[in-house]
Amino acid sequence: MEYVLTAENLTKEYKGFRALDALSLHVPKGAIYGLVGRNGAGKTTFIRILCALQEPTGGGYSLFGVDNGDRSVIPVRRKMGAVVETPAVYQELTAEENLQIQYRVLGRGDFDAIPGLLELVGLEDTGKKKVKHFSLGMRQRLGIAVALAGEPELLILDEPVNGLDPQGIIEVRKLLQKLNRERGVTILISSHILDELSRLATHYGFIDRGRMVEETAATDIAESLETHYMKLMGGDRNE
Ligand code: ATP
Repeated sequence: MEYVLTAENLTKEYKGFRALDALSLHVPKGAIYGLVGRNGAGKTTFIRILCALQEPTGGGYSLFGVDNGDRSVIPVRRKMGAVVETPAVYQELTAEENLQIQYRVLGRGDFDAIPGLLELVGLEDTGKKKVKHFSLGMRQRLGIAVALAGEPELLILDEPVNGLDPQGIIEVRKLLQKLNRERGVTILISSHILDELSRLATHYGFIDRGRMVEETAATDIAESLETHYMKLMGGDRNE
């Protein structure tokens, strides 16, 4: 199997506390990989490390076959797009202007692809409306559009449907399915919303206290995701 992302023994220690504890993880090419775990399990820490916002204290990861310690991981990172926590978009600007800024950041001189990108995320009719007047779902989709500006092969989303209303959740789900099916984008998504995740994910990684408890294909889970999760993680919250 071809993997776009793997992690082995990935560890992040904060003054004696291990947020990630020898985590191993394998994301197959073309997957929608759901990262599942309770609050504080280490999901955001993992995603921040992938985005080079934090350094691991042990172990490593490999992106498109290139190890994180290798200098050539820097250009390889361009094959990845991410929305971490709140999407980084400018409130006083329109959707189109936000994308123009991102295109400049990426060194892309012409904006010809922007209308298509706005259409892809369903924001083509927002015209002069400033982002501060957008709904949460629209903002989330704009965040995803910004992450897609570099035409990534791997899209990483930290809790993309958190706080969205049912309509917003459905819109984001359809967008992610479209990206995966029509453009072949591999997606890593962390979420607490098991029911929603089970409609999307082809693979799961269940993490607890910074460790991988189980990695599995969705087709190998016979019961509901919730039942499986409860059996695996147990009811004790340890908080
Ligand atoms: P949530 O679902 O609540 O976002 P998470 O799985 O994303 O949780 P992380 O945010 O990765 O969890 O946090 C993992 C653990 O590391 C938590 O116990 C958190 O308190 C701890 N942690 C995170 N950042 C720091 C830091 N800068 N210093 C010390 N501890 C930290």
